Amino acid sequence: MIRLKPVLETPPRECPNCRATLSASDFLITGMRNLADFYCPQCESEFYGDLPAGQALYTPILLDKKSGAVYDDYNVGWFSGWLADSYAKRTKEPLGFGVRKFSKVKNKVVLLNCLDTLYGHSLLKLLNAQHYIDRQPDASLIVLLPQFLEWMLPNGVAEAWIVDLPLRRGTEWNDWLAGEIGERLEPFREVYLSVAFSHPHIEDFNIERFTRVAPFPLENFGMREKNPVITFIWREDRLWETVNSATSTRFEKIKRRLSIPQKHREEQTRKVIKFAECLRGEFPMLDFAVVGLGKSVELPGWISDLRLAKMNDEAERRWCERYAESHLVIGVHGSNMLLPSAHAGGVIELIGEERQGNFPQDILFRRSDAREMFFRYRFVPHATAPEDLACLALIMLHYEDFRRLMGPEFCRHQEEYDFEDWLLPERGGLK
Ligand SMILES: [Zn+2]
Repeated sequence: MIRLKPVLETPPRECPNCRATLSASDFLITGMRNLADFYCPQCESEFYGDLPAGQALYTPILLDKKSGAVYDDYNVGWFSGWLADSYAKRTKEPLGFGVRKFSKVKNKVVLLNCLDTLYGHSLLKLLNAQHYIDRQPDASLIVLLPQFLEWMLPNGVAEAWIVDLPLRRGTEWNDWLAGEIGERLEPFREVYLSVAFSHPHIEDFNIERFTRVAPFPLENFGMREKNPVITFIWREDRLWETVNSATSTRFEKIKRRLSIPQKHREEQTRKVIKFAECLRGEFPMLDFAVVGLGKSVELPGWISDLRLAKMNDEAERRWCERYAESHLVIGVHGSNMLLPSAHAGGVIELIGEERQGNFPQDILFRRSDAREMFFRYRFVPHATAPEDLACLALIMLHYEDFRRLMGPEFCRHQEEYDFEDWLLPERGGLK
């Protein structure tokens, strides 16, 4: 935790002009940015600098108050750029600010700031809440979050400060908001800021505490059901690639992202249908659904179409219920995979070479034996053909074959064995 009050404590920062150690006088939270107000006692320059929370834990940026120039020692243009741009366009416009009070706030407060411009970043920050609820009983947790995450607030939060700031404005530097947060923190003697890890450890959160949806029971993963439940996670802004991007130029890749032609969405649809058809060949009673944002292409009636044009809380909860019923969720790499992976039995992710640097940041793993986990989580190139993807899914659905050989409970030496247990479920001979 970073102490904000009664005395702000920041890691030492050097003046980029004269190398003297900067002194920090105050903090301000302008939106997603948690900043310290820095002053150089030697050359009298003034700066704002990131406090170590979220991405800034790894790459804190310094901004010159007068010129607006940013000092980015880590070469993270996207992160320093957001700060520079938001400072240049800073606003005082009041925002919708709702307060939900759940319990009396103690004099020691931890503030968890979940504001961000990326859906996945906001959600991952929120998962830090459980640590403070469970491990910091002497402090009250106040969560600062965007409206779209309100439904995921876990029990045990003392207050939620809900800011009406859409994701597209998530980098905004808002002095009104900074003033509002500062005033609201004023009455508390001790205030700490959560480090808000970008990727909280799987042992530190239980997804059910957030979504109120119990994940797929892993003990049922290998049940040789006649009707496995498979869910494809759909998005229209990043596709199951129709072209092998390893051979595309950088310009072609950017162009593809900016304007995805309808014919590519149609091709993705054909691939999803082909994939589902291959599985249906093996499992005629297959329960196959498509979940996600965007409905620009029709799906055949035998596929459950749970897609939406626009998100809402109730729908997202229903989607989680669907993930939790799913033996497997399949989708393209991205924050769209966070909640599906947190609830489903297993995952197949299509990942392009340009996203390999983010592997596996979008997966909320469900912990089990190491070999068993390798079996349940698969990452394949995003140009994988639907037939090949179906082969992989079928192998994963034949989990019992793997479990007999490598599952921990089947590799334990015993005094006596019931050899029946080791026999594979009967499948009928090939004809
Ligand atoms: Zn200086």
